[in-house]
Amino acid sequence: KELPSDPILENSRRQVTEAVFSYVNPKKTKDPKVIHTSIEMANELGLSADDLKSEFFKDIVTGNKIYPNTKPYAMCYAGHQFGQWAGQLGDGRAINLFEVEHNNKNWKVQLKGAGETPYSRSADGLAVLRSSIREYLCAEAMFHLGVPTTRSLSLSLTGDQVLRDVMYNGNPAYEKGAIVSRISPSFLRFGNFEIFAARNDVKNLKILTDYTIKHHFSHLGNPSKETYVNFFKEVSERTLDMIIHWQRVGFVHGVMNTDNMSILGLTIDYGPYGWLEGFDFGWTPNTTDRQNKRYRYGNQPNIGLWNLYQLANALYPLIEDAKPLEDILNQYKIDFENKSLQMMKSKLGLFNNDKNDIELIHNLEDNLQLTETDMTIFFRVLSNFKEANVAFKLIENAFYDVNHISEEIKISWNNWFLKYQNRLEKENLTHLERKEKMDAVNPKYVLRNYMAQLAIDDANKGDYKLIDELYQLLKKPYKEQPENEKWFAKRPEWARNKIGCSM
Ligand code: AMP
Ligand code: MG
Ligand code: MG
Repeated sequence: KELPSDPILENSRRQVTEAVFSYVNPKKTKDPKVIHTSIEMANELGLSADDLKSEFFKDIVTGNKIYPNTKPYAMCYAGHQFGQWAGQLGDGRAINLFEVEHNNKNWKVQLKGAGETPYSRSADGLAVLRSSIREYLCAEAMFHLGVPTTRSLSLSLTGDQVLRDVMYNGNPAYEKGAIVSRISPSFLRFGNFEIFAARNDVKNLKILTDYTIKHHFSHLGNPSKETYVNFFKEVSERTLDMIIHWQRVGFVHGVMNTDNMSILGLTIDYGPYGWLEGFDFGWTPNTTDRQNKRYRYGNQPNIGLWNLYQLANALYPLIEDAKPLEDILNQYKIDFENKSLQMMKSKLGLFNNDKNDIELIHNLEDNLQLTETDMTIFFRVLSNFKEANVAFKLIENAFYDVNHISEEIKISWNNWFLKYQNRLEKENLTHLERKEKMDAVNPKYVLRNYMAQLAIDDANKGDYKLIDELYQLLKKPYKEQPENEKWFAKRPEWARNKIGCSM
C-alpha cells in the first residue's frame, strides 16, 4: 500500500500488536544546528572531528536526512509506571536510525526529540533544549564516572519552537526545540519483554528474548529454559551493579519505571534525575513523586528488585518454573547487602574485614543526615583524614549551614572520627595509598543540578560555552583540576529546590 494509509508505515498513534517496532521517519526541522558533540563517543563509532563538522552529519543527527538504505523505527514497549501497570508505551519521542559496527562493537544510533511516532500518545514527540542539555551532559558524565550508561553523540537545536507547560512557573511557553543523538549497544528495556507477556504473545516474547541473548548475551549459549534463567540472572546482576554505582556517586534517577530499565543494565532516559547535594536517603529530584517518594535515593536498590520481579513475571512463560526465578530475586537481596557494604567501605578506604564495619557505616550515614551535609564534598575531603582530633575542621566545608552546627553534632562527628581512626589502624595502607584509592571512587566533580541549570540559562540566550566547559570538566571527575575549583562547591542558595524537569 501507499503512504499514508499503510498500516506499517502510517505514523498515527495506535496500539501496535505482534510487533516490537514500527517504521517511522524523523520530522524535518526548520533550522538545524549542532551545538555540541562528544568526540570520545564519535571515535568509538569511527568518526573523526572533521566528520562531526560536516553538513551530512548535521542532517543525519537532526533527522533531516535518512542515511542511505536504512529504515528508521520506533520501538514498542510497555511498562509499570510508579508501581502501576501502564500498558503500551513505546518510543514516543525516540527514533532509532541505524547500527554502526566499529572495532568489533555494535552500536545503535537513536534520536531523541525527532518527532511523533505511533507511540507518542498525547504528546508531540519533541524535546526542548533544557531537557536535552541535561540528558546530553549527564550521560557522558556518567560514562566518565565509570557508571554503566547509554551515551551521547550530539546535541542540536532544531530551529523549531516547542510548547511546554513549564513546571516552575506553571504557564505554557515556547521553548527551543532540540535533538540529542544517543548511542547504546541496545535500547531494549524491561518493558519490551513485558508487553508481549501482557498480551500472551509468547511467540514474539521468545523471538525477542532469543534475539537479545544471541546479540548481547551470546556467552549464555543456545536458547533453552536454562539459558533463559541464566539470562534473567545476568540482567539481575547487571541491574544491581548499576544501582550500586548510582549509590556510590549520589545519582538519583527519578523515574525508575520498568520502561526506563535497560535490559543491559545501563542507565537510560535521563529525565528529572538529580545528584545528592545534602546526603539524604529520602531525597528525590522528581517533583511529581514528592508524595510517595517512591524513587528516592535510599529506595533505588529496592525498586531495582521490584522491577526485576516484573521482568521475572514477563519471562515466566518461557521458563514455566517460578523457583529458579525466585532464587535469583532472593540472591539480589543478599548481593545487595554485600556489594553495598563493599562499595561504602571503598569510599572510606577500608579493604580488610572487620565485624564492626556495618555499624561504622550506619553511624556515618546517621551523622551525614544530622544536618544538611554535602555528600560529594564530604567523601572527597575525607581522603585527607589523618587524625581524629583535627578531622572536624576538614569536613566543615561540607555543611550547608556552617554557622549553626550544634555541640551535639560536633560530638557525634568526633566520636565517629575516633572509631574511624581506630578502624584505619587495621588497614595496611599508608595515608597516601589510601587517599589515592579513595579519590578514585569518590568523585570531585559531578553535574550538580545548578550547574546544568546555569548551562541551560546561557544556552537559552544563545551562549553554549558553559555546555562545553562542563563537558570538559566532567571528563575527569576524579582528578584534581585546580583551574576548576569553583565547581567543587556546595549548591548556591538560589538553587535550593530548583529542579530541572524532564519534558
Ligand atoms: P518517560 O517518563 O520520559 O520515560 O516517558 C514515558 C513515556 O512517554 C515514554 O514512552 C516516552 O517515549 C513518552 N514520552 C515522553 N515525552 C514525550 C513527548 N514529548 N512526546 C511523545 N512521547 C513522549
Ligand atoms: Mg522513558
Ligand atoms: Mg524520558
